[in-house]
Amino acid sequence: MTDVHILVVEDESAVRELLTATLEGAGFQVTSVPDAHKARDLFSHFIPGLLLLDWMLPGMSGIELAKWLRKDERFSGVPIIMLTAKDEENAKVQGLEGGVDDYVTKPFSTRELLARIKAVLRRVGSDDSKVIKTRAGLEIDLAQHRVMAHNQTLQLGPTEFKLLHFFMTHPDRVYSRAQLLDLVWGSHVFIEERTVDVHIRRLRKALEPEGMDPLVQTVRGVGYRFSEQPG
Ligand code: CA
Repeated sequence: MTDVHILVVEDESAVRELLTATLEGAGFQVTSVPDAHKARDLFSHFIPGLLLLDWMLPGMSGIELAKWLRKDERFSGVPIIMLTAKDEENAKVQGLEGGVDDYVTKPFSTRELLARIKAVLRRVGSDDSKVIKTRAGLEIDLAQHRVMAHNQTLQLGPTEFKLLHFFMTHPDRVYSRAQLLDLVWGSHVFIEERTVDVHIRRLRKALEPEGMDPLVQTVRGVGYRFSEQPG
């Protein structure tokens, strides 16, 4: 199981479904959309760990989306793998200029696709080899499933651990309860939104002994945010 969330942008529904099934089967979290505009909308509240982007899309092309992402420093670190047709050599050149990290040529084998994804993630250091992440004085160790603050281990349940990890990798943004359910619990899980409140409460309680509970902020009428800036 990996904690990397992949955004798939592909207009052909059969290919999109195949990609989703393949990636989920390999343990990734997957969100898929049929066009670049929908992908761009998603980026306003969610930054994926990797973008798997079709070159030929209706409306805004894959390369236009890649260039748009690279211009914004919030998104410039998201690795991009482009899907191209066999004879689109031109696409590769343009893509390299647009900041694309790698290519997979259609039709592709599952094995090749997964190998490329893993190689790119390794290169940007966001695969499982980078197991310790720090933010706001907190250190989260994904391999040992442990959270430290001021050299103290915090006592967190598995859901609070996932929630904190999500917050630490997506700081300073407000997420609604529905978005948190989708992004932390997974879109296939049916849970009531108030369950989120329960786990937020537990997470704050776990952070409290180190005085770090103010990091988890309630944004009234909207949802929650993880931030070092006072709410
Ligand atoms: Ca296409």
